[in-house]
Amino acid sequence: MHRATKIVATIGPASSTPDVLQKMIRAGLDVVRLNFSHGTADDHRQRAEMVRECARQSGREVAIMADLQGPKIRVGKFENGKTTLEPGKSFILDADCELGNDERVGLDYKDLPRDLKPADVLLLNDGLIVLDVVRVIGSEIHTTVRVGGDLSNNKGINRQGGGLTAPALTAKDMEDIRTAMSLGADFVAVSFPKNATDMEMARQLANIAGAPYGIKPKMIAKIERAEAIPALQEILDSSDGIMVARGDLAVEVGNAAVPALQKRMIRMARDSNKLVITATQMMESMIHAPVPTRAEVSDVANAVLDGTDAVMLSAESAAGKYPVETIEAMAAICVEAEKSEHSELDKDFLDRTFTRIDQSIAMGALFTAYHLGAKAIVALTDSGSTALWMSRHWTHVPIFALTPRAGSERAMSLYRNVTPLHLDTSNDRDTALQQAIEVVVSKGYAARGDMVVLTVGEPMGQPGGTNTLKIVRVGDVL
Ligand code: PGA
Ligand code: MN
Repeated sequence: MHRATKIVATIGPASSTPDVLQKMIRAGLDVVRLNFSHGTADDHRQRAEMVRECARQSGREVAIMADLQGPKIRVGKFENGKTTLEPGKSFILDADCELGNDERVGLDYKDLPRDLKPADVLLLNDGLIVLDVVRVIGSEIHTTVRVGGDLSNNKGINRQGGGLTAPALTAKDMEDIRTAMSLGADFVAVSFPKNATDMEMARQLANIAGAPYGIKPKMIAKIERAEAIPALQEILDSSDGIMVARGDLAVEVGNAAVPALQKRMIRMARDSNKLVITATQMMESMIHAPVPTRAEVSDVANAVLDGTDAVMLSAESAAGKYPVETIEAMAAICVEAEKSEHSELDKDFLDRTFTRIDQSIAMGALFTAYHLGAKAIVALTDSGSTALWMSRHWTHVPIFALTPRAGSERAMSLYRNVTPLHLDTSNDRDTALQQAIEVVVSKGYAARGDMVVLTVGEPMGQPGGTNTLKIVRVGDVL
């Protein structure tokens, strides 16, 4: 079954054996997420090697996304591992406290008291606990518990409305970027960026760290703090894509604001020719149950209808009981939702002008394939940019992108409706196109007599050089 929407899955204890990972790849996993909030550099390295090995055995490329922890602010540890907060009682967050008890707990971000003032609202443990700031005295933040509950070691802290000044890239993130490049990560996801500068800094570090390995990773900005919303366009312009990081975002802006923000972010990303991943709690109940809830099915389907490139799994695949079944279920929901999606291609093209030749060819191919009812678009591409232009608009015609570069193949594994395939050729244009068609036919994606739309650059092998559009029937001599 052809599926356009891609699946990103976090791997962890539940999915770190070759057997499970193989099954996840067979079930439809496109991009593996390594969560640098957990585990050591060695854990990530071993997992990355396992991903490459399993992908090799499956005969297809699987991309790796390194997700940095970022400046997530957390409480320290407790004497007894946790405490229980009672509504109405007072509780102190103390930057100087070593080990917490029932009265106070430490902070990993020592400057937090300086960012807060009376009447600020703090949300702990993904918003499950709510504290009202009463006053700040030196290193101590005195609060009254509004919503209580169990608070255990290292739980996260957000301020309602955002505005905490912790720098976007921590020392740990910088070290993790180096680790990520040494293990060959294709994507780097940056947590809590607030503007373009944060993303530019991260990209610079990644490019420097990646240079010895010949890697320039794609940079994904996780949109998860309130300040990032007004800065969305500049963040998009400085990134290759964004993640709708609904977990932290919901805590900062309030749950109810997130669905509309998701739609806006996806639309803006696609209009800006950028990628977008929808993340967090998509199949949450499948951590424990073999089937999703009706609400989760709707959530995944709606993200597809919003136009997301990819849907993401976190604890479901990293620590859940059913990592393989979750991917199977998610894939099936995507396929079904895509069937009902209307193409708005003609509307998208109204009043559009293009500045680049490769973009014009890409749009011409898309328009032609759609109106001709072609079976497939076959694009010979080096960097993958032709495929990116085409994948920003939805039609039911699948796009096959053939490249000699494994790195481009892996990058394209996140592009909606693009199936990356390998083709290394030094032949003349028409022979290369013939070979491309043969690859697509050999995989069963097209058959003799099918109309296909081809794009290629002449001379071949130049990134961004696509300048030729050709329409053929499979089996005809080129
Ligand atoms: P996280 O990011 O899982 O790294 O916290 C995603 C989110 O906040 O939704
Ligand atoms: Mn987050």
